[in-house]
Amino acid sequence: MPEIGIVGAGISGLHLTLRLQQLGVPTVLYAEHGPDEIAMSRPSNLVVRFGHTRERERLLGITHWDRPDLDVYGLNVAAETTPPVGFFGKLSKPASGVDFRVYLPRLIHDYLDRGGEFEVTTPETTMIDRLAERHDLVVVATKQRAFEKLFPKDTVRSPYSSPQRSLCGGLYHGIAPSDPSWVHFQMIPEVGEIFCTRLVSLDGPIHGMVIEAIPGRPLEPLSYLSYDEAPAEFNRTLLELLAEHAPPLRERIDAAEFGLARPIDLLQGRITPTVRGGWAQLSGDRYALAVGDAWVLNDPISGQGANLGSLCAFALADLISAGGPYDEEFCRRAEKELWRLAEPVVNWSNSALGPPPDNVLDIMRTATTDQRIADAFVNQFDDPAAMWEVLRSADNTRTWLSQLWATA
Ligand SMILES: Cc1cc2nc3c(=O)[nH]c(=O)nc-3n(C[C@H](O)[C@H](O)[C@H](O)COP(=O)(O)OP(=O)(O)OC[C@H]3O[C@@H](n4cnc5c(N)ncnc54)[C@H](O)[C@@H]3O)c2cc1C
Repeated sequence: MPEIGIVGAGISGLHLTLRLQQLGVPTVLYAEHGPDEIAMSRPSNLVVRFGHTRERERLLGITHWDRPDLDVYGLNVAAETTPPVGFFGKLSKPASGVDFRVYLPRLIHDYLDRGGEFEVTTPETTMIDRLAERHDLVVVATKQRAFEKLFPKDTVRSPYSSPQRSLCGGLYHGIAPSDPSWVHFQMIPEVGEIFCTRLVSLDGPIHGMVIEAIPGRPLEPLSYLSYDEAPAEFNRTLLELLAEHAPPLRERIDAAEFGLARPIDLLQGRITPTVRGGWAQLSGDRYALAVGDAWVLNDPISGQGANLGSLCAFALADLISAGGPYDEEFCRRAEKELWRLAEPVVNWSNSALGPPPDNVLDIMRTATTDQRIADAFVNQFDDPAAMWEVLRSADNTRTWLSQLWATA
């Protein structure tokens, strides 16, 4: 039996490891932090997992948070445009938000409870060669600097050389739950986007909010204002900006209760969307593949990175469990197959970073007055290939709208 070494205990590495374990393929999982350290770290994301990802979780037997009162039932989209946009689209399969500092440690324990082998180790450049001696194939699922040379940037698939949004994400008290529980998505043309949803955290359900600020525009200071130095000023600035740019969300906030849950519950930073080479030759004629953000790093604007990481992990597990040799031909085939899944997500995420084109605005306006369009649009968050097919051209949008009207 081949033995696979997997580096990185994010959703991509863990779904791959758990799936291979289920398929009877021996694995060793390497990560830079153990479960307790992950639980105590700053958040590095705030993730909503859609229906298809949750189906894969059911297959893996990791349904620890499957409770109707914790589910997320749709997307509430708002924009103060003329005419204004405002609709709730219902997901036919509810989504779920769990803080990854809860989610990932739990999955590591599941792997260990099922007999998995787990090692905490610092990623550095010589590590991969050491792993190549031990494993038939190494899969890198963590975007550490040490691996960037191994998987160089693919300049054809990476149109941006700088971040298109400045990010500020945190967990907050004082936001009233929506009924039903939904992701609030505020579009603010030429300023950015604001997402807010209820998440399961270490301390129970709480609201997570992500600000996507266009650099140089009014929301950007939130991506660098220091909370630790002046917490009250940080909270006040955020409230003022929400009042100006996201009135429906501000209305749900009790100013007296509002604030970051704990100083550590904040992430600030920027991401340059980047696609890297998907495989590399190591010493001794062994190979390494990259998956998840280590391979395809998207801006989180479309909420797809973790869902894509899970999808690719399952596809790769199928290829690996079908048997080796895990040679160059295998790596080329794997990259080609996984790119088929990733390309629509990359195209959709990158296009969402530009000003919304007329066909996208048409969908938003139509969804505001037609519930069928609202529901159909929102359900495509769980089917990014279908979403990109609809958004990619004005003709495709028109055809999609007329088909929906015709089947009414
Ligand atoms: C602000 C923000 C919001 C996002 N929202 C969504 C969304 O709604 N839906 C979606 O599908 N994708 C979302 N993403 C993208 C998503 O987080 C990544 O694409 C996904 O987590 C990549 O998983 P990975 O396993 O490939 O790599 P990584 O997540 O980078 O995993 C590699 C390593 O990072 C560590 N790690 C990962 N997450 C955490 C954490 N939270 N705390 C501590 N350590 C961690 C683990 O130790 C792991 O070994 C968001 C990203 C950001 C920055």
